[in-house]
Amino acid sequence: MKLIFLGPPGAGKGTMASRLSDSTGIPHISTGDIFRDNIGRQTDLGVKVKAILDRGDLVPDELTIDLVRNRLEQEDARNGFILDGFPRTIPQADALETFSSIDHVVNFDLSREEIIKRLSGRRVHKASGRTYHVVFNPPRNAGKDDETGEELITRPDDQVDAIKNRLEVYWKQTAPLIEYYKKKEILRDIDASPAPDEVFAKLKGLLRI
Ligand code: ADP
Ligand code: ADP
Repeated sequence: MKLIFLGPPGAGKGTMASRLSDSTGIPHISTGDIFRDNIGRQTDLGVKVKAILDRGDLVPDELTIDLVRNRLEQEDARNGFILDGFPRTIPQADALETFSSIDHVVNFDLSREEIIKRLSGRRVHKASGRTYHVVFNPPRNAGKDDETGEELITRPDDQVDAIKNRLEVYWKQTAPLIEYYKKKEILRDIDASPAPDEVFAKLKGLLRI
């Protein structure tokens, strides 16, 4: 199954993509995770995009499209994938059409108030990308990753100013994709506000899996 998870930052796309990937074996492809991994390893790409991510702006389309095209050419993505955080602009969506076909676009819907609560409480294990929330999904030991015991961090772009900018960027550049995919009749809306187990159950119902 070839899926896109669309929705504002903090809506729970990564959390649901990772659960769905664990239960189905379909690879979870997060452009944000790929950029952060490159930043951590200080690759040429990482050095180029670090300031952009920290501000909450978008990485240029051409660079992002090439990255996803290459990733989708890998063997594990041949029969299915969950794209989390891509496409984020109309040119990215147009480009995707030239190298892949999509079965469903799941649109995660959440109010601005809840988005801000989720982003400001998000904590991440840097090495694995595992994500927690101080209130909604706390680790067993405060501030520590459940599997490795290592320190959790707050992402630089989850600071208040960057959050505001990311939401603006989302409304201007990404939200138009809702109409774009609605017209193609592959958009499936999901209410992202309930607890994770409920959202996950609804997601599976929606995808009939
Ligand atoms: P996105 O990938 O859309 O930016 P995440 O999956 O990283 O969102 O989730 C944002 C934050 O909200 C994380 O801290 C995560 O633990 C928490 N979260 C995810 N889903 C839910 C949910 N259904 N209810 C409450 N908190 C959630
Ligand atoms: P969130 O789920 O919280 O919005 P992501 O991890 O998806 O965050 O993305 C983090 C950052 O990575 C974005 O703010 C942006 O700078 C960059 N990024 C991720 N995906 C894309 C994309 N498709 N196009 C451009 N920039 C992207």
